[in-house]
Amino acid sequence: QTRQNAINAVTNYTPKVETLNFAETTPTEIFGSNVFNDSVMKNMLPKEVYKSLMATKKAAQKLDPSIAGPVAAAMKEWAISKGATHYTHVFYPLTGLTAEKHDGFLSPDGDGGAIAEFDGKLLIQGEPDASSFPSGGLRATFEARGYTAWDVTNPAYILENPNGTFLCIPTAFVSWKGHALDKKTPLLRANQALNKAGRRFLALFGHDDGEMIVSNAGPEQEYFLLDRNFYFARPDLMVCGRTLFGAKPAKGQELDDHYFGAIPRRVLSFMMEVERELYKLGVPVKTRHNEVAPGQFEIAPVYEQSNLATDHNQMVMTTLKSVAKKHGMACLLHEKPFAGINGSGKHLNYSISTASQGSLYSPGDTPHENMQFLAVTAATIRAVEKYSKLLRAVVATAGNDHRLGANEAPPAIISIFLGEELAEIFNQIELGDLKGCKSKGCLQVGVDTLPALPMDSGDRNRTSPFAFTGNRFEFRAVGSNQSIAGAQVALNTILSESLDYISDEIEKLLKKKTSLNEACQKVIQGIMKKHGHVIFNGDGYADAWQKEAKKRGLPNLKTTPDALPAIVDKEVVKVFEKYEVLSKDELHSRCEVYHEQYNQHILTESLMTVKVAKTIILPAAIRYQGELAETAAAIKAAGIKPRTTLLQEVTDLLRDLQASIVALEKLVAKDSFKSVEEEAKYKCTKVLPAMLAIREVADALEGVVADDLWPLPSYQEMLFIK
Ligand code: ADP
Ligand code: MG
Repeated sequence: QTRQNAINAVTNYTPKVETLNFAETTPTEIFGSNVFNDSVMKNMLPKEVYKSLMATKKAAQKLDPSIAGPVAAAMKEWAISKGATHYTHVFYPLTGLTAEKHDGFLSPDGDGGAIAEFDGKLLIQGEPDASSFPSGGLRATFEARGYTAWDVTNPAYILENPNGTFLCIPTAFVSWKGHALDKKTPLLRANQALNKAGRRFLALFGHDDGEMIVSNAGPEQEYFLLDRNFYFARPDLMVCGRTLFGAKPAKGQELDDHYFGAIPRRVLSFMMEVERELYKLGVPVKTRHNEVAPGQFEIAPVYEQSNLATDHNQMVMTTLKSVAKKHGMACLLHEKPFAGINGSGKHLNYSISTASQGSLYSPGDTPHENMQFLAVTAATIRAVEKYSKLLRAVVATAGNDHRLGANEAPPAIISIFLGEELAEIFNQIELGDLKGCKSKGCLQVGVDTLPALPMDSGDRNRTSPFAFTGNRFEFRAVGSNQSIAGAQVALNTILSESLDYISDEIEKLLKKKTSLNEACQKVIQGIMKKHGHVIFNGDGYADAWQKEAKKRGLPNLKTTPDALPAIVDKEVVKVFEKYEVLSKDELHSRCEVYHEQYNQHILTESLMTVKVAKTIILPAAIRYQGELAETAAAIKAAGIKPRTTLLQEVTDLLRDLQASIVALEKLVAKDSFKSVEEEAKYKCTKVLPAMLAIREVADALEGVVADDLWPLPSYQEMLFIK
């Protein structure tokens, strides 16, 4: 029996992984050893080429195509010296996954031999046969191929496999007409927009030194680990990434003995190897710990500039999965692998900064610095309130619906946590009457120094989707399985618009001879009056907040079909077109693709529900029913009146199970819809509840059927056996 076999295999597991010796090769030596980074390039490239490349990388200057040749030559030499046989353009299609197209370096030399070939043209542009990636109608089939374009700003690197090594070149993926078909292109565009709007804004505060302004991301990645034997004994996990069945374990996370507890040996060994692999790739992973749920863990890097952080997070996800396999485990990145147990998110720590000023979300020491800080924060408050539906939409996936809007952190309502002190300061500014602003408790922007804000207070609010944490905001609604690109594209775009709004307003007032202090005060006051209701410092889980948020007029979009349409709202299209991040067509294509993905997910889950219920759970319950019936008959034959309550219960549940399977099958059979939106609504409101109905009966059966007959590994086994 599969379940018993799995349990035996887990009990007898002995690790087959090699031991890592960090004394032989120190982490410092390992770090970045597989990256074609700045220092490698400095060594290998002609001076002029290196300088030109750095100008593109660090100062956002246009790429000079003539440098591609020498860079490609150096890259090839470096990669081959490291044992690489192939090069691959790595890109990030709208599925959120990482895609690779491999090409060998070798080309026939015409004399029966072969030479290694890789030139500037092959570096700059690739043509993957990627017609089966979703494009939401942006590509007609005749031009289906699209092409990948070298992303100069992120370094190339080498991926090692026991049986082969290859060079990876980060790329953007676009159609022949220039439409963005991926997650990277809009991020690069949004970064550009932010840089422009940010510089204009900073100039008003006396910083017009031409410094780049960038956004940074520090994503905290949560995940589950379980033994692979269990994984393979659970077809629902294997196919859908989450359990579609399973009664709650007697011991859940209530005791909280896992959170920040000692890391289990086997897991620690896994983590060390993950970190080592990531060090090689130059990913600055920093923290590791147990998470709230049993079997749940977290890995977080030191934050980096948005584009790099995004590629690195993709590498973290792939590495977690591949190293887990090596250690006989499966890594689950799904947002809700186990019902009733905490799900996984990806807290996106977000800030904008310049090299000399650091994070613009850091309150300063002087009134002048504080004025700028308050203005940037006000711009953020305005952006988040004005485009809160968009921020909800960029985290809308079938998996994430089980967190957001369900009984778990954070809620689907987008609000901002500022902390008591900072919220109080903004309140004072809102209330402040400019002329009479002398009285106590009334703050004058640019005049008063802010009271020292607690940079990292222990009692930070954990329930807010968008929380100020001292020198950054933490966007906690991102799903563990999602690319962090989408959230940053949205944030950078709407923040650009908000910064420009503030610049416009301040400039108008300056023309009227208002002082900068007063202008700032006025603008922030106006923003607070209009958008301040998005600030909420209370408990985001409480029912009271749902009511309160409704009163405040904050949207509460609980499901993906509710949330996704915001991507093509008029306001959103306007701001994305204005900042040239995504065109109307590109937004519509995304809206379509994300709906399709939702529909596909639910379809797969529903088919799997039927299959597991029919072919695994139903037969087990029928066997048990047979045993009970036989026993009853034997007792009766012995002249004793048998008690048949249990037999009756099993029989009733079996009847319910069969009925609920039939009901779901009927719903799943419908396959023609007017639009992807209509289909998504149908799947959300009809199919999902029918799946849940089956699960309820099946989980009840799990509590009744004899344990030795139950075929699926239980929650208890999967979550607690290490
Ligand atoms: P916690 O669990 O307390 O939120 P972690 O240490 O797990 O904190 O993660 C915090 C993340 O925030 C790290 O990735 C860290 O590098 C990142 N971070 C710190 N400062 C900034 C900043 N100014 N901008 C963006 N990210 C930041
Ligand atoms: Mg953390």
